[in-house]
Amino acid sequence: MGLLCVSCAGRQAVKPPDAQAAYRIDSSRRASGADERVQFLVIHYTAEDFASSLTTLTAEQVSAHYLIPAQSADGREMPTALQLVDESRRAWHAGESFWRGRTHLNDTSVGIEIENQGYYRTLTGYRATPYPSGQIALVIALSRDIIRRYHLQPGNVVGHSDIAWRRKQDPGPLFPWQQLAAAGVGVWPDKQRVGYYLGGRDPCSPVAMAGIMTRMADYGYDVSPQMPAALQQKALAAFQMHFRPHDFRGLADAETEAILDALLEIHAGERGAG
Ligand SMILES: [Zn+2]
Repeated sequence: MGLLCVSCAGRQAVKPPDAQAAYRIDSSRRASGADERVQFLVIHYTAEDFASSLTTLTAEQVSAHYLIPAQSADGREMPTALQLVDESRRAWHAGESFWRGRTHLNDTSVGIEIENQGYYRTLTGYRATPYPSGQIALVIALSRDIIRRYHLQPGNVVGHSDIAWRRKQDPGPLFPWQQLAAAGVGVWPDKQRVGYYLGGRDPCSPVAMAGIMTRMADYGYDVSPQMPAALQQKALAAFQMHFRPHDFRGLADAETEAILDALLEIHAGERGAG
C-alpha cells in the first residue's frame, strides 16, 4: 500500500513519520573505492599580531583549523597550538583556490594559520618577518601528525600563495619549506637532481616563460602559457617564493626550470605511488 490517492489523503488518518524509528546498519562489507576527505594541508600567515589574529579567526567570516602563536605564553620553547575548528568541519581559510585539478580547497583541506606579521616597511623597502624556531617546530610536529592521519601526498602540502597566487602571498619567502621537507612535511627539490637538469647552464640564463608555465601547470598550479605576461610573472614569483626564495622576481631562468623538472620527477613518483 505504498501509493495514496492525493484526493483521498485528507480523509486518511495520517500517521506522522516516526523520527525515532529503529534501523539497522550492516558494515561487514566494505568498498575499496574510497579515500580521505582531507587531501591537502594549507599553510598561511596571519599578517597580524596574536590578539588581532585570534579575533579575526574566531569572530569574522574567516577561520582556520589551527592557529600557531609566535611565542609560547609560558616561556617554553614550543608554543601551544590553538584548535579553532574541528578537522571534521570546513574552516574558511583558502577561499577561491586551485591545486592539482581541485578547486575550493576549503572542502578538502586542513588549514593552519601561523602568527606572523608578513611584510613590514623599512627604510630600504619591504621585509618579511622571520618565523621563530619554536613556532616552526610546532608547525612541523602538528603537520606530520595531520599528514600521517590523512595519508597526504607530500606535494599536497601547500602555501596559500600556491593555491591562490593571484591574491595571496602567505606564508611568504621566509617560511622554511626546505626545513619542513627535511622533516617530512611537503616537498623540496633534490640539489643533485636540480644540478642534473641545469646541465651546466648558468642558473641565471633566461629560458622561455611558456615552458615554465607548462611545467608549473603540470606540477599543480592554476596557470597557462596563454595568460597575460604580467600574470605569468606573478604566478612564477609565487612559485619561486616557495621553491627558490632567494630570488622571486618572477623571471624565467634556467635554475627555476631545473627546480621544476626536479619537482616534476618527484610528482611522477607520487602519482605512481598514489
Ligand atoms: Zn592565507
